[in-house]
Amino acid sequence: MTDRIRRAACRCGQLRITCTGEPVRVSVCHCRNCKARSGSAFAVQARFPAECVRTEGEAKMWQQAGDSGNVADFFFCGECGSTLWFRNRPQLDTCAVPLGNFEPGHGFDLQFSVYEERQEPWVSIIGDAVERYD
Ligand SMILES: [Zn+2]
Ligand SMILES: [Zn+2]
Repeated sequence: MTDRIRRAACRCGQLRITCTGEPVRVSVCHCRNCKARSGSAFAVQARFPAECVRTEGEAKMWQQAGDSGNVADFFFCGECGSTLWFRNRPQLDTCAVPLGNFEPGHGFDLQFSVYEERQEPWVSIIGDAVERYD
């Protein structure tokens, strides 16, 4: 059996990422930083081992400390501004890719919903298989 390959890109297409195999984690996050990054009510991302991703194009990096105090590195397109992947220090061995940047038909199943205490009151993440954390 060959490993599944999924591709994601920024909106203008100059920055691209190819992910091989299955993600180690697919999660929704309701934290303030993820809301600000995505500009939405929550963010969804698939996390892959760093050795399973390959990137093309030119990325800019911006760093921000999260609520935990750990710094995260965000890689984005300088042309269209899409954040295409990010990694949380000190776990530089994984790479998170926003779900909405993947080509349609990616088939990811949601596994985790975190920071639910910050979830907007009109948001509902459904599914019995989803593990939930405040
Ligand atoms: Zn772009
Ligand atoms: Zn978050």
